[in-house]
Amino acid sequence: MDVLVLDSIAKAYGPVKALKGVSLSVPRGTVYGILGPNGSGKTTLLSIILDVLAADNGNYSWFGNPGSKEQRKQIGSLLETPNFYHYLSAVNNLKITQSISGRGSLDEIHEVLKTVNLYERRNSRFSSYSLGMKQRLAIAAALLGSPKVLVLDEPTNGLDPVGIAEIRELIKLLSEKGTTIIIASHLLDEVEKVCTHVAILKTGNLIAQGTVEEVLADEDVLEIAASDLDELTRLLSAYEGIGSLERGGHILLVKGPKGSLDPAAINAYCQYAGISVHHLAMRKKRLEARFFELTSN
Ligand code: ATP
Repeated sequence: MDVLVLDSIAKAYGPVKALKGVSLSVPRGTVYGILGPNGSGKTTLLSIILDVLAADNGNYSWFGNPGSKEQRKQIGSLLETPNFYHYLSAVNNLKITQSISGRGSLDEIHEVLKTVNLYERRNSRFSSYSLGMKQRLAIAAALLGSPKVLVLDEPTNGLDPVGIAEIRELIKLLSEKGTTIIIASHLLDEVEKVCTHVAILKTGNLIAQGTVEEVLADEDVLEIAASDLDELTRLLSAYEGIGSLERGGHILLVKGPKGSLDPAAINAYCQYAGISVHHLAMRKKRLEARFFELTSN
């Protein structure tokens, strides 16, 4: 069952077409990354599904129904860092958030602070927190009311590697507890590490979507090396089913359609022709390479 379905969502700011008819579905229980370079429309998309902005065209539905106030309560979100009071503690800040938003209950505050690993520091002033802790407090605020879905815009922006790792762990934990998580990000590495699904946006168009595995692995890339690379190149050029051959330093990159390259068979072929292969490895094309390939003109 899909948690969120977008059908041909379009939005323009005057002459700027920020979204040009985007359709996608977010399956329940996934960590869904919306990836795109700056200005590709990620924030606009999240603002529309959170009812902060109205779309010019198209529809979207949460849990099979058009957006409503009641449904919005099942969605926790973090579009921009909330304004917490610097001189107040985490607990007191969340009390204020809770009373303004009406989400969740005061009893829940300790619970969400435990979830984001800030319970020990719950009585410290917000101003004494690191950036990563501040961001985790913002996520704690979004978790009030036990939302089924969490929508996060660039949740690791500005954080150091430790802060990034903490957010990643938190996302994994929340996902394991059954929360569906939608994340907009331009950090490919982060998306690759934490997301199960990915949609790639480019200047307002959706250019790929699916599981990270599907979007990632569109072709086989085999690294192969022998002492005489010229001879190996000549030999493999005659091998059926190879899409292309590329020299990369002291190795040869053999590319072919997904599932077309069998390393064992290629090794045997080389052996038979008298070339002994000293390196042979299937390379999983990194999302980053794929992303640049998809988004470059
Ligand atoms: P970033 O990662 O830089 O935030 P993004 O992928 O979130 O980018 P959006 O912020 O949704 O992209 O912007 C999409 C396009 O719409 C951009 O060209 C942007 O300049 C433009 N845009 C966004 N908000 C406005 C606005 N309020 N008025 C005019 N143009 C806007």
